[in-house]
Amino acid sequence: MTTFDLRTLRLRPSDERRIDREVDLQPLALGGQEYVPEPQTVPTALTVAQAVGGRLLTLRFQTRLSGPCMRCLAPAALDLRIRATEYDDEEAGKRPGEDTSTIYVVDDVLELSQWAHDEVALALPEQILCKPACAGLCPDCGKDLNVEPHTHEDVTVDPRWEALADIRDLLA
Ligand SMILES: [Zn+2]
Ligand SMILES: [Zn+2]
Repeated sequence: MTTFDLRTLRLRPSDERRIDREVDLQPLALGGQEYVPEPQTVPTALTVAQAVGGRLLTLRFQTRLSGPCMRCLAPAALDLRIRATEYDDEEAGKRPGEDTSTIYVVDDVLELSQWAHDEVALALPEQILCKPACAGLCPDCGKDLNVEPHTHEDVTVDPRWEALADIRDLLA
C-alpha cells in the first residue's frame, strides 16, 4: 500500500506542490468477478495546495483494468482516466459535528493506494464488456453468441414432421 507523508512538504499557506508517485492498486471485485489493474502500480500526479487550516489534494492517473466480459466471459479491458479531489481539513477535530475532512489523511499521512482504489471503484461502469455490442452467451445452450449467433425461439416445424403428426392423429 502506498502512502505519502504530507508533513515532508513543509508547505505554507498558498503554496502548491506537485508530487509524482507510483501507487500500488489492488484488484477490484465487481459482479462476482475480479478486475486487475495493469500494471498493478500506476504513475500518479498528486497536487497539494496549502490553504489556511487545510489542504486541497488532487490526484490524477490512468489505469487499465483486465478481467472477464460480464456477458460472455471473454477477456475484457477497461481504460480509466481518474481525476479526484479531497479536502484535508487540518482543524476538523476542533469543530465537533462538522467533519467534512477527507478520510484518506490519517495523522498527516495520505493513504494513496486506498484513495486511488476507491476512485477506480467509483468510476467503474455498470458492466465491463469485451465490446459494447457483446451478444453474450446463449441462455438456452450456453454457447457464445458472438461466435455462433443463433436463437431457440422460433422452433419451426419441419413439414415432414407435420405429415407424421397427421398420421399420428389418424391413428389416435
Ligand atoms: Zn463479451
Ligand atoms: Zn443456444
